[in-house]
Amino acid sequence: MDAFVSRKRRRISPTDEEETKIACLAEEESTDFKLAVLASLHPDIDHSALLEALLASNGVVDAASEHLLRAGSNKSPSKRRNTNSITGYQSTISSFSLKSKTAEPGAYVSKKPSAKKGKTLHLYSPEDIETTTPCSIIHNFLPPNEADALLHELLKEAPTFKREKFRLFENVVESPHTMCFYVDSWDEAERQKTEYVYNGSYIADVRKTLPEMRNVAVKVQEAVNAEIQRRIQIYYPGGQKLKYQSPDEWKPNAAFVNCYDGGAESVGYHSDQLTYLGPRAVIGSLSLGVAREFRVRRVVARDEDEGESDAKNGHFPGTIASSAPTRADAEGQISIHLPHNSLLVMHAEMQEEWKHSIAPASAIDPHPLAGNKRLNITYRCYKASLHPRFTPRCKCGVPTVLRCVQRKRENRGRYMWMCHANYTPGQEGCSFFQWAEFNDDGEPPWAKGVLGAKEAEGVAGSAT
Ligand SMILES: [Zn+2]
Repeated sequence: MDAFVSRKRRRISPTDEEETKIACLAEEESTDFKLAVLASLHPDIDHSALLEALLASNGVVDAASEHLLRAGSNKSPSKRRNTNSITGYQSTISSFSLKSKTAEPGAYVSKKPSAKKGKTLHLYSPEDIETTTPCSIIHNFLPPNEADALLHELLKEAPTFKREKFRLFENVVESPHTMCFYVDSWDEAERQKTEYVYNGSYIADVRKTLPEMRNVAVKVQEAVNAEIQRRIQIYYPGGQKLKYQSPDEWKPNAAFVNCYDGGAESVGYHSDQLTYLGPRAVIGSLSLGVAREFRVRRVVARDEDEGESDAKNGHFPGTIASSAPTRADAEGQISIHLPHNSLLVMHAEMQEEWKHSIAPASAIDPHPLAGNKRLNITYRCYKASLHPRFTPRCKCGVPTVLRCVQRKRENRGRYMWMCHANYTPGQEGCSFFQWAEFNDDGEPPWAKGVLGAKEAEGVAGSAT
């Protein structure tokens, strides 16, 4: 377990790419992963203190570990302080008098309230959510009987869901909730099981989308496309889609279904993997059962000068127009409340620039059908051009993972292909790294060659 720490400390004048790679390895792991590393180094320190140390160290595990070691001789005051600051206090949006109905392009920013570091801003209304975060929400999305039918269908499946496992050096760590993966046909499920690599291995259990899920997908598709267009019109500079965002219709063809059984089940801060979705991906997330808090925070570049406009750098279109928030503001977390039968759209700026989580809840209101469970379908659109037979392979012979530089300023927003075999129990990784190139519509250089003529035409020519 010491390997993680010592590898980062060893600095032998790495090249730019190596340095970026090292920084990314350290920074872009999920919070669960980092917490597991910290927990293995400091088994006697409680979870909230570990999380606080991690946040105080900007997510850098070895810095957090040193912080904890320093605090170790003086354990109880440190823990008490940590407990207080992690609780934060609740701000409500009503004090900000937003007038988003009159929002014009760019207005997004000047009117948005700020989430201060160490505090949580709680958001409930669709207007507040879309002006403050890269998400939009539709409450009461389905007719109540359809939502209930879908919930029944998922509740029947949920007991067979599994915890995701990943390796942490000699240990295997499990995700703190269960999940299952669905695609639209058994043929596709077979391809998923044998061709698509996740964290360096294959998913053994891929199922065919259930009937209610399939029916609802049609409605989700319609709503998400409408939300994408509305967001482009209102919030993106010049009313244009983002660079690398697909101009094509969003068509969900894969879904991860998550089950959070009771308030203790959760998922730590992370970004969703872009390997098969491509850059600037949009995800539709339908919540059923117990209402839970979806927390988001913006990732702030290291060494970013305060007051410098991010929009000028071209990295964060639609997020910062007039005044850049201070780093502390940008690192505050925002809590979006997700009630039963709500559809949350994570828009194109979400995965590259923000992290999200489902926070553990000390108390929940049981749902009449679902009891203590929240079920959540995340509808995704896998790109034909990013099938693993086309993407670069690492020295392990495994299709690589697509990642985006989130923190290191010089390369922020650049994409890269990296080995991810080392996350799989029983496998070692290699050091493979390659910058990833995409055209303005988010297609890789090989897209035209590998897709059928019709698809390639759609890829190249539909910039409407
Ligand atoms: Zn490899």
